[in-house]
Amino acid sequence: MTTAALPVLMYHSIGGRVPTALRELSVDPGLLAEQLDALAGAGYVLTGLTEALDQRERGPAPAPHVAVTVDDGYTDFLDHGLGVLRDSGARCTLYVPTRELGASPSWLSDAGDLRLMGLPDVVRLAAEPEVEIGSHSAVHVPLDSRPRRRMADEVAESRTVLQDATGQPVDSLAYPHGYHDDRVRMTVHSAGYRSACAIGHRVAPRGEDPYAVSRLLVGPDDTPERLLERVAGSQDAELRARVKRWAGPPWRWTRRAVRSTTGKVLT
Ligand SMILES: [Zn+2]
Repeated sequence: MTTAALPVLMYHSIGGRVPTALRELSVDPGLLAEQLDALAGAGYVLTGLTEALDQRERGPAPAPHVAVTVDDGYTDFLDHGLGVLRDSGARCTLYVPTRELGASPSWLSDAGDLRLMGLPDVVRLAAEPEVEIGSHSAVHVPLDSRPRRRMADEVAESRTVLQDATGQPVDSLAYPHGYHDDRVRMTVHSAGYRSACAIGHRVAPRGEDPYAVSRLLVGPDDTPERLLERVAGSQDAELRARVKRWAGPPWRWTRRAVRSTTGKVLT
């Protein structure tokens, strides 16, 4: 039984240089820090998706949760993303497409400087308390466009590869490009995943299908104020009032120098 709407944020690149057409996919590390600090300062607990869904199942939490998700597994998550999360006291779910790892993103015709981390990087991240590893299927192709057998194989294979490599359960999947239908959702459920998420551009409402979790795409135009509005705007009046009270200082004065671009968190 679900009890509350759950805002789920969706990020991709953290600080990667991308062509103008893809600018929505990259958020500067400094802006990410401000966004997360603003949400934390407003009283939200920032966790990965499985942790947030489990909390929601248990009933009303002492503090509202926001789930943070990062898609694709770009190497800039190693350079910037993990450090920002750690400094902000946030956790996230990182969704990776297993057959694409270690290469350029095959689904982007001009990916700028974006590169995908390798499986060893994923294994090391899985050991970090800030990171839950999720599946982005095996190849980054819309699952509803795949023949049934191939789609089922890819969904299962990705989970097996990640679980075998990390020694941890892989409970969540993000649909490549966000597309899914009944057949895809049933397959993902049968493969043992407990949740799956799409895009949706809205906060996941109460009682939403855990295999069709809506997410808010967070981009470079989301100032901390705008993101707080987006997150709080769809929630109930009492929570909006609490967030409004929390949304003032001190986070406005705590802009932090984000570690330099050369200071890799994991090498
Ligand atoms: Zn993706």
